[in-house]
Amino acid sequence: MERSEVVARDKRHVWHPYTAMDAYIAGTDPLVVVEAEGPYLWDADGTRYLDANGSWWVSTLGHRHPRLVRALVEQAGRFPHTSLAGVTHAPAARLAEELAALSPGGQLPRVFYSDNGSTAVEVAIKMAAQYWAQNGRPGRTRFITLSGAFHGETIGATSVGGVEVFRDVFGPLLFDVVHVPSPAEPAGWERAFAQVEATLRAHPDEIAAVIVEPLIQGAAGMHLYAPAFLRAVREATREVDTFLIADEVFTGLGRTGARFACDLAGVVPDLLCLAKALSGGLLPFAATLATERVFAGFGGGPERALYYGHSYCGNPLGAAVAREVLAVYRDEDVLGQVARKAPRVKAAFEHMAQTIPGVTRPRALGMVGAVDLGTGGYLARAGWRVYEAARRRGLYLRPLGDTVYIAPALNIPDAALEELLAGVEASLGEVALGAG
Ligand code: PMP
Repeated sequence: MERSEVVARDKRHVWHPYTAMDAYIAGTDPLVVVEAEGPYLWDADGTRYLDANGSWWVSTLGHRHPRLVRALVEQAGRFPHTSLAGVTHAPAARLAEELAALSPGGQLPRVFYSDNGSTAVEVAIKMAAQYWAQNGRPGRTRFITLSGAFHGETIGATSVGGVEVFRDVFGPLLFDVVHVPSPAEPAGWERAFAQVEATLRAHPDEIAAVIVEPLIQGAAGMHLYAPAFLRAVREATREVDTFLIADEVFTGLGRTGARFACDLAGVVPDLLCLAKALSGGLLPFAATLATERVFAGFGGGPERALYYGHSYCGNPLGAAVAREVLAVYRDEDVLGQVARKAPRVKAAFEHMAQTIPGVTRPRALGMVGAVDLGTGGYLARAGWRVYEAARRRGLYLRPLGDTVYIAPALNIPDAALEELLAGVEASLGEVALGAG
């Protein structure tokens, strides 16, 4: 099918995510991907694009990693699917054992599978709420969450979200949460923590859990905050004996330089949500890891079970691929690669802010680097002008409003990383200097 025919059909029928469709249909020439390999995407017109965000943060080992493709095909040739209802299989069982061993402090040995980041969070929310309902604290039904938090798309995950433009329209449908300021505010994390602590102390019988994106508030604009905040929240939740949920859907599996962002902070949460990188960009797959204590709270009669489970939860294809993802991380020393490349990312973004007028707030952690071009938030357009300039240079650099960032494959070859950083700098320069 011709490129133009794909686009025509798309514009007639496909409703795109996070997209103002009128403008898209009227004016956007989308990438039409026909092939992907490593850090690159190929358009049907033959143009090669460097994928600056690993296709929405999933392809941490690059596109079409041969070992992942082989694991998928081999599993598909045996049995592609079975439910996990009274059934198990080696990929799910062995993956759970491996994730348990890798979990922070080795202390989250119980693994509940689902489909994506939002469901991994939804599971954690329900586990926390049900745990307290049936273990002597039925008043614990509220969650503390951070302004600027992003935890996913479902109504539960949206309820604990803190990005107004994504949640306000659904306001009447969302459950009540306690929002505290973002620990990433320039004034520092202490103000956010003071409110977490005060809320926990004032309402110890109401709070089911504190939920955080550890160290980076991703979708809000790559806002970094201090590990000390995470440690302080862990201590405060321990003091009143309530839960800490770590949503590592974005940060997990090496993005920040450690296996988990929680590890960087030396924190062990009660529940940890994983998706995206877990299946390396091959198919949707997620897991919520729980401590033995949380798991034990569901023991006893059938009325105490967790009545939750998606059709495809723990599916053999995803589990087989995820096991191979973990093996590739080991064999290719992916964390070592990030440690080596992270200083280069940091230096490049600092250089951009120093040398390009109007480019501010350089920040980096692990393989994430970001700057701002304005202060307009998610609906601002400056980042999109950089997107257009980058596209002309062969970069796919989708912004978060005014925030221009990279979150590429963790194993991106050095030459491609340099190409990416140079392209980001040139595109920012073009827009900031008014030629864009
Ligand atoms: N949690 C975090 C921290 C995320 O960044 C995202 C997605 N950007 C989600 C949850 C939701 O994941 P998914 O899109 O796979 O549902």
